[in-house]
Amino acid sequence: TSISEICLKEFIDSIVVLNADEIRKKELTVEVDCDGALSVRSSQESLKHILMNLIQNAIEAVDEQSGRIIVRARRGNDRILLIDCEDNGCGIPKEEQEFLYNPFFTTKPPGEGTGLGLYIVYSEIERLGGEISLESAVGRGSVFHLRIPDGESPG
Ligand code: ADP
Ligand code: MG
Repeated sequence: TSISEICLKEFIDSIVVLNADEIRKKELTVEVDCDGALSVRSSQESLKHILMNLIQNAIEAVDEQSGRIIVRARRGNDRILLIDCEDNGCGIPKEEQEFLYNPFFTTKPPGEGTGLGLYIVYSEIERLGGEISLESAVGRGSVFHLRIPDGESPG
C-alpha cells in the first residue's frame, strides 16, 4: 500500500466523484466538510476502501431528492484523524447493529447487496489500528464515526 502525504479534502472529493452518477440520479446533496489544509499520511488504499463503502451505503440508505450525506473530517490531535459519515436515511435498528460488520450480513435484496461492504470497512480500520462506531436511529439516519491513527505531526 502507498503511504504518502495527501490533501484529505481533495481525496474525499475524489471518492464522492466516483459516485457521481448515483448522486445525480437520486438528486442527493453530498457535502464534504474538511479543511483544505488538512493532509494525511494514512494508507490511501485503505482510506479509499473505507470511504467508498460508507458513502455507497449512505447513498443506498437515503431517499431520492431529500437525501443528504455529509462527510466531516478533522484532526482530533496530531496523531488522530476523525472522520464522520452522516446520512439522513432509513437508519439501522438496534438489533441489527451488532451484525453489521459480519461478512455477508445484508438487508438488501439478492443481487443488490453482498454484505461485504462494512466487513471491508471494519477490516481496513483494524489494519490501520483505528476504531469505528455508529449512532443510528430508524427513520432519522446514521452516523459512522471513525478514529484513524495518522503519522503526520503538525507544522
Ligand atoms: P450491503 O451494502 O451489501 O448490504 P454492507 O456490509 O455494506 O452490505 O452493509 C450491511 C448492512 O448494513 C446493509 O445491508 C444495511 O442493512 C446496513 N447499513 C449499512 N450502512 C447503512 C446506512 N448508512 N444506513 C442504513 N443501513 C445501513
Ligand atoms: Mg454496502
